[in-house]
Amino acid sequence: MKATEQDKRKALMAKYKKMFHLEDGTPTWHFGIAVGNGWLPLVDALCEYLQFNIDNNKDPQVQVIQIKEKFGSLRFYIGAGAPRQFDAISFAESLSSHICEHCGQWVEKSAQDPDAVWKLTLCDKCEAKRAKRHEKPRGNLSVLDLMLGNECKKVNRCRTKKRKARTK
Ligand SMILES: [Zn+2]
Repeated sequence: MKATEQDKRKALMAKYKKMFHLEDGTPTWHFGIAVGNGWLPLVDALCEYLQFNIDNNKDPQVQVIQIKEKFGSLRFYIGAGAPRQFDAISFAESLSSHICEHCGQWVEKSAQDPDAVWKLTLCDKCEAKRAKRHEKPRGNLSVLDLMLGNECKKVNRCRTKKRKARTK
């Protein structure tokens, strides 16, 4: 992952310090914000809403456990919380299935083939780019590799190796 992409996530965690850290400053979890850049504004808006109501409307301070993508939509896990907080999270999670995870564009539904093994919410352009570079995911790839399209680099590396082996 590029430093700038990591920085955006770090900035969000710093912006909502109380949600991402325990009172003694220890981070609540270690996985980072494991979603594509297109969803970062949505995560930002959700955190802003939650923290606003914590600070101004007596909602309990929530702590984030994990933020990831599953079946093409956002998953935002917190520990204990009030019903209004879980409602806001559910709403953001359902909105995410209409937002391209790569570029943030609003989509009626994902441009991806509905039979795809790895479900992603993508706009036409991002799906075309992904399909062009994409080959079947390899077993040793991490979730982040798949999300960020890094599988292509690894596949190409494998091909180079095979080519070298053949020419020997
Ligand atoms: Zn897109």
